[in-house]
Amino acid sequence: MNKFTTLVIGLLLVSSYKISSQTITDTTPINATTFANTIKPEDVKKHVFTLASDEFEGRLTGARGQKMAADYLAKEYESFGLTGNYLTGDYLQIVPKEALNNQSENDSENVLAFIEGSESPNEIIIVSSHYDHEGIKNGLIYNGADDNASGTSAVLEIAEAFALAKKAGHGPKRSLLFINFTGEEKGLLGSDYYSSNPTYPLNQFVAALNIDMIGRIGSEKEGNENYIYIIGADKLSSELHEINETANSTYTHLELDYTYNAIDDENRFYYRSDHYNFAKHNIPVIFYFNGTHADYHKPTDTADKINIDLLTKRTQLIFYTAWELANREDRIIVDQID
Ligand SMILES: [Zn+2]
Repeated sequence: MNKFTTLVIGLLLVSSYKISSQTITDTTPINATTFANTIKPEDVKKHVFTLASDEFEGRLTGARGQKMAADYLAKEYESFGLTGNYLTGDYLQIVPKEALNNQSENDSENVLAFIEGSESPNEIIIVSSHYDHEGIKNGLIYNGADDNASGTSAVLEIAEAFALAKKAGHGPKRSLLFINFTGEEKGLLGSDYYSSNPTYPLNQFVAALNIDMIGRIGSEKEGNENYIYIIGADKLSSELHEINETANSTYTHLELDYTYNAIDDENRFYYRSDHYNFAKHNIPVIFYFNGTHADYHKPTDTADKINIDLLTKRTQLIFYTAWELANREDRIIVDQID
């Protein structure tokens, strides 16, 4: 028997024991923790070191290394038992080179994986990251470990945790769509293409949790190993902000820093990663981010510098928020549009 099968049986025992000591309606926190704990440092580390390895050549949009990364992601989703996107079942959405503004000689790929909800399958939570980076310049590989092998590893681990929950009989009520975007470094082009060519009607998207750089400690936070920047959570839905706050105060106890959420923040991070292509369609978003550092967009952004334990904890926060969004009674409301 392989390791995977042992793990699933172990989870079944744990969850049925816990259910017997709780009422059925009061099992959410216990179930969530059971599956959050499947997000393990060793798994996170494996994904980061693979995606940010020299073999993947800096994952330049349209280049060989990006396609190798897409293949790795699709194979991981397949191994978790997830399907591809709804329309075709494929894990890859082709982004034609024409949509890449002549910045690539080849077509490129967004990677998608789906879990169907048991009660409201047409209400979908997106968990996303970009997986492309800067490729090789002047003979130097830009490994992009923090930017954004870190967020991409988080998406994989969250997908696996939901897949394990479903196999153990605790699948989400709403659906989840996991997307790894290409073309982000070229100008949010993969997510722009997806939101213009969505594989589901846009009004089915409940919220989008986007992860871009969560494996390091930003320069202005040196010495603080317990924070994450939260951007955009309250911009469209007060409930989304509250859910993320409660997930953190209940389980992960990180310092949630809203500095970059200020409407007049000069960095304009709200507009600078893939979530914005959903926010512009009035889909509530959260952008999870660690801030920039000396290795940002340098060939020195390497896997050995990733804080694996902190990355794991931040990933668990996002999992808990996704779990609540997917399993709560009502779809969150959009109540903050001016
Ligand atoms: Zn970047």
